[in-house]
Amino acid sequence: MAWLQRARNPLFFESVFIYDCRMKRLFALVTMLSIIPGLAVAAAFDYPMRAEAVADNVYAIITPTRELPNAGNGGWNSNSAFVVTDAGVLLFDSGSSAGIGEAIKNTIATVTRQPVRWIVNSHAHGDHWLGNTAFADSVEGIFATAEVIDAIERDGAGWVGRFDRMTGGVTGDSVILAPDRSVDRETELSLGGETVVFMLSGGSHSPGDLMLWLPRVKVLVSGDVVYSDRMPSTNAGDLRQWIGMLDRLQQLQPRVVIPGHGAVTDISGLDRLHSLLSQLWAAVEEGVDEGLSDFEMLPRVSESLAPFRSHYPGLDEKLRRDLSHVFLQVEAAAFE
Ligand SMILES: [Zn+2]
Repeated sequence: MAWLQRARNPLFFESVFIYDCRMKRLFALVTMLSIIPGLAVAAAFDYPMRAEAVADNVYAIITPTRELPNAGNGGWNSNSAFVVTDAGVLLFDSGSSAGIGEAIKNTIATVTRQPVRWIVNSHAHGDHWLGNTAFADSVEGIFATAEVIDAIERDGAGWVGRFDRMTGGVTGDSVILAPDRSVDRETELSLGGETVVFMLSGGSHSPGDLMLWLPRVKVLVSGDVVYSDRMPSTNAGDLRQWIGMLDRLQQLQPRVVIPGHGAVTDISGLDRLHSLLSQLWAAVEEGVDEGLSDFEMLPRVSESLAPFRSHYPGLDEKLRRDLSHVFLQVEAAAFE
């Protein structure tokens, strides 16, 4: 399957792992070979992908970039996490392409020989599931909500093309391996002896967001319901629901939070994000009360979020893009 996929793909990826004893860090060097008939052109970039142990048998794979997919980051702009059990590995989110999925697979292999047996796809945005195909030889079930499965069936191919354009052809033509296990309510399961709880966000960040709670170690794998140090995207979700969901997540008292974007955090990251989103809602509400349009209130909303700017790179870029979506929600709430 992998070879078929590569045969269709003009870009070949090879992952080579180099262990640097001095730095005690593992780097995956992903070499991209662009095959042109009669001429092989090699381009390489460092891929500092490593498994970060956050609790017993639980690891985070955190991207260093805080940007959208582009040629420089090769499309690797979202986090993954995995849980090692005696019966296989549970992977949460698989990256933006088949090549990134392969790099994740190699990174998992640095800590366990167990194959990836289950995958959770947190939501339908392509940076969280396009790597599924790299695990086609071992995966038994891919979990997502029905809304996410529908969205991937509708627009999966759109994400492949979008990322390929955004990365200047680096992410290539990933084969779509869609989720096949629908989760429609909060569900507790035992996978390989590990108790896992699938939690729904109620569409906080995007329709059908799925999160993973690991009660044994009190680790929350949040997908994009939590961003720790990058401005969250608020253009696809329900901001008021999101603020309430963060309250609920704080009540879990997690020891560790692995966010969809940004560094590993803890309950303080939930607290700060709650403050940011609450302030965003309040500032827009103030503008709506004064009869301002979204365009007119933008400078003032931006100013009111100034205390958060250093913690959340990309704040103004995302605010410009997302403010109209938030505005409509606040305006609708004013007439309830
Ligand atoms: Zn994302």
